[in-house]
Amino acid sequence: MDFRLELMHPAFEPMIVGGFEALAAAFPDVTVKYVWVGEPRRRGDVSMGYFDEDGKYIRLNSHWLGREPSVLRAAALEPPLFHGRMTQEPEHLIAHEFGHAFEWSNPTIRPRIKEVWSAATKRPKSECFADYALTNPCEYFGELFALVRMGLADASRLREYEYVTSG
Ligand SMILES: [Zn+2]
Repeated sequence: MDFRLELMHPAFEPMIVGGFEALAAAFPDVTVKYVWVGEPRRRGDVSMGYFDEDGKYIRLNSHWLGREPSVLRAAALEPPLFHGRMTQEPEHLIAHEFGHAFEWSNPTIRPRIKEVWSAATKRPKSECFADYALTNPCEYFGELFALVRMGLADASRLREYEYVTSG
């Protein structure tokens, strides 16, 4: 995995490099060609990052990663909490984006992702572990992967993760 971090605040380096390298070591079959920090894609782009499925890279937004880590950490604690209990950044961001790469490297799990996402959308929204997970099946898995990696999954979400990733 390569890193292109010229636009990143240097204080993020141990978290970003260490976090992604630990995941790459734990999941050697997952393809992430490189992680880079780029300028916002348009005016007002305050997204944190995304996985590009064509280029197989993870792009992080300099709007957040170019500043002191305390800026992102404080923003993550402000309601509404789209990511539920996953308020620790950039740890959540790292795991979430890697989760997308995991899905693209394991396309056979998609029917099960869709199945658990669909079931979650039929339950009351308040029962979901993160509002953002309900967006679509891809985001559901990104959030579920992050929840498990951050040690925040309860027994039923752990079972769900095992079910999905064994498919
Ligand atoms: Zn995502």
